Amino acid sequence: MSIVKNSYTFILSVKGLAFILKAGYGINSLHRIEVVMRYYSTRNRAESAGFAAAALTGLAPDGGLFIPEEIPRYPSAVCSSLGTMDFHDIAFETIKPYVDSEIPGGVLEDIIRSAYPFTAPLIETGDRLVLELFHGPTAAFKDFGARFMARAFSYLRRNEDRPLHILTATSGDTGGAVADGFFGIEGISVTVLYPKGRVSPLQERQIAGLGGNISALAVEGSFDDCQALVKAAFTDADLRKRLALSSANSINISRLIPQAVYYAAAAGRSVMGCANSDGEATPRDPARQGGRERPWKGGPLTMCVPSGNFGNLTAGLYAMNMGAPIRGFIAATNINQTVPDYLATGDYRVRPSRATISNAMDVGAPSNFERMAAHWSYGDLRRMIRGVPVTDDETREVIRTVYECRGYYLDPHGAVGWKAVDKAARNRDGGSNPEDGPAAILATAHPAKFAETVEPLTGPVPVPASLKKVMEREPKALTIPADIAALKEVL
Ligand SMILES: *Cc1c(COP(=O)(O)O)cnc(C)c1O
Repeated sequence: MSIVKNSYTFILSVKGLAFILKAGYGINSLHRIEVVMRYYSTRNRAESAGFAAAALTGLAPDGGLFIPEEIPRYPSAVCSSLGTMDFHDIAFETIKPYVDSEIPGGVLEDIIRSAYPFTAPLIETGDRLVLELFHGPTAAFKDFGARFMARAFSYLRRNEDRPLHILTATSGDTGGAVADGFFGIEGISVTVLYPKGRVSPLQERQIAGLGGNISALAVEGSFDDCQALVKAAFTDADLRKRLALSSANSINISRLIPQAVYYAAAAGRSVMGCANSDGEATPRDPARQGGRERPWKGGPLTMCVPSGNFGNLTAGLYAMNMGAPIRGFIAATNINQTVPDYLATGDYRVRPSRATISNAMDVGAPSNFERMAAHWSYGDLRRMIRGVPVTDDETREVIRTVYECRGYYLDPHGAVGWKAVDKAARNRDGGSNPEDGPAAILATAHPAKFAETVEPLTGPVPVPASLKKVMEREPKALTIPADIAALKEVL
């Protein structure tokens, strides 16, 4: 505990929570004030950085990931009004404690307004809710993180003249969202590494079709190889000397934090019992509506998160621990089930990734696991999360039956989530349990992005306008072997 005194104010800080006593107003006006959040490496609690340094360097110098020293709590007035607040106001209240003192409130408001001309509707399909995260320009949830990050970087670098070079590995959707988020931003260039032949034609156009300050490298290898190359580049002393490097995949804390926003917004709405009406891009066949035999009545949500690198789920854990009314999580994976196996056995074993139809989740060594393990014990994680792996056959079957019964089109990632809720309900084990309340599946991508998988099962999927434009672009990527020397040469 410390007390700082200046001419008008006393700042009393207890365990990181600070209150300001305004002399003129007497002791009963206690205002919570801006507390400077520090970030630590997951591998070293001794040194800390502010938000700007943590965001702009991406990875800590020791190879660890930055985590906030503590997860802030929403003020109780915010917590109780999440169900009625505007999405932008929830974003402001969620992000503010993490960036205080480095991004002034007015700037943060502008960033949020410009980053999110779209929201995340919570759609009711009978007894099941879908949190649609694909209403942004690249039709995947990564727009939420990438668009905030691009604008935050642009502000944080406002006084620099050395250009910033962003290096990012993608299994599909990150690259598109990052490329789109940074396209045309002055003083920043972006190189996206993606596994050659393992992303969809549309994703490839989103990554490699922009040109300008965005370069694309098709790596002869897997996503894990791409990720390893990025990590190698970051720890390469020679490269670090030559270039101002930063990362932009889900290891970057500035991408992770804004992803907590839609969890809080959806959780608040669910408690109020108010789902959204369909959004414009909602992929629903108006001729087929059904499955409403068990109507949804509201209540705290179990959220099912289709997961690969576990950035999205980690952001959900932040929202829950900030006080958003979330019952728990289902971590849905495809057969790359490193985390579900860990939750079941306590034994964490990374393995090579295997290709599936939900390719944005083909991750055998999820990078954000290190964050989860740094914040929470195995017991904590088991209390908050159930892991459920899903096969490609199950995924296809769910895409077909959900379309047939409810007229709703799922993409392969959302379908993994849907199936995981089915399997968890059948397989109660005392953890966070979807049977005990409403479950919302995070639909992480629009099904039209994965038309080659979805359409054979459902027929033509309605295509949102944003995606129609992308298909007209010509992809221009350079192919490189999965080798750091080759990457260094290109950079
Ligand atoms: C990136 C991605 C995921 C996985 O998200 P993580 O944060 O890496 O767990 C799931 N679905 C889609 C469509 C994605 O693009």
